[in-house]
Amino acid sequence: MKERIYNFNAGPAALPQSVLEEVRDDLLNYKGEGLSVMEMSHRSKTFDGIIKDAERLMKEVMRIPDGYKVLFMQGGATLQFAAVPMNLLAEGQSADYINTGAWSKKAIAEVKKLGKQVNVIATSEDENFSYIPGTFTVTPDAAYLHITSNNTIFGTQFQTYPDTGNVPLIVDMSSDINCRRIDVSKFALIYAGAQKNMGPSGVTIVIIREDLLERSPDNIPTMTSYKIIGEKDSLYNTPPTFGIYVIKLVLEWIQKTGGLEKLEAINQQKAKILYDAIDKSDFYRGTVRPDSRSIMNVPFRLPSEDLEKQFVAEALENGMLGLKGHRSVGGIRASIYNAVPLKAVETLVRFMEEFEKKNG
Ligand code: PMP
Repeated sequence: MKERIYNFNAGPAALPQSVLEEVRDDLLNYKGEGLSVMEMSHRSKTFDGIIKDAERLMKEVMRIPDGYKVLFMQGGATLQFAAVPMNLLAEGQSADYINTGAWSKKAIAEVKKLGKQVNVIATSEDENFSYIPGTFTVTPDAAYLHITSNNTIFGTQFQTYPDTGNVPLIVDMSSDINCRRIDVSKFALIYAGAQKNMGPSGVTIVIIREDLLERSPDNIPTMTSYKIIGEKDSLYNTPPTFGIYVIKLVLEWIQKTGGLEKLEAINQQKAKILYDAIDKSDFYRGTVRPDSRSIMNVPFRLPSEDLEKQFVAEALENGMLGLKGHRSVGGIRASIYNAVPLKAVETLVRFMEEFEKKNG
């Protein structure tokens, strides 16, 4: 393959080409320092500049108000499933969770493993997670409410976020962070594995309201403690330096693209083209209730599993990768994250029309 492939992977996923080019240009000799970012001390002045820029850019791009801290952690979003209750769910308290799919379930399972109390206040499991529950009542004295903003496997997404009053709202934004403008002040804590919209795997972004940092008990492992990681500005131990550097470049790319308003408009346009193609056809069938559709992960079915296999194989022959649905649900899934260009989606839709003509 001479050209870069159209990458519809769910994660790790497409990165902006200009970011990769900058990484390539900087790889052997970063800004004339004679070494790669991978090879430099995490205590060096240069890396300190990189991590501070990454935090500053995160605040600028997301318009994070004062009183929040941005942490770069390890262990993926999966470690956050445990870190959240370890830090923020004290003995004798319980936490509310909304179960919208496989990742919510895993988050809930980690709380139970710790022997802590969970209230699942809403679930869409009755209809195979094809929608986002609209009504639920937050337990007034819950330690927090946890939601999964975008369900990567099922292709559902919260269109708006619930008002939780005094109960802190915690959100797993792994697969839709920075796909649109949000009001960060509504959230107590946002976490996201970087490998979909922000950079390579190995870094987890945690945005936490500073008053919560005080809640971390002393008897939890250091690497899970928001308090310690916060006090040390994410440099308690050796952080994933290269990943943080790439995140900084991705944030600069977001700014150059025109910020989150612009990205959201492009993301809406990409999603509309794809959903329109599904809706107008009797051959393709969407699996998500229209009011809950994700603009990041678009799952759909064909009339048979054989046709789905053929679709994935022929798409690959036509330069489109990663369209197979998650192994737990089957079907097709197109992940159209920030870095997937409009042209990739247009190419996919043209391919879908031709495939239907031949096989419909
Ligand atoms: N939450 C969501 C919404 C995800 O999509 C994923 C990964 N696909 C995870 C959590 C788990 O992330 P990680 O692999 O970084 O632990």
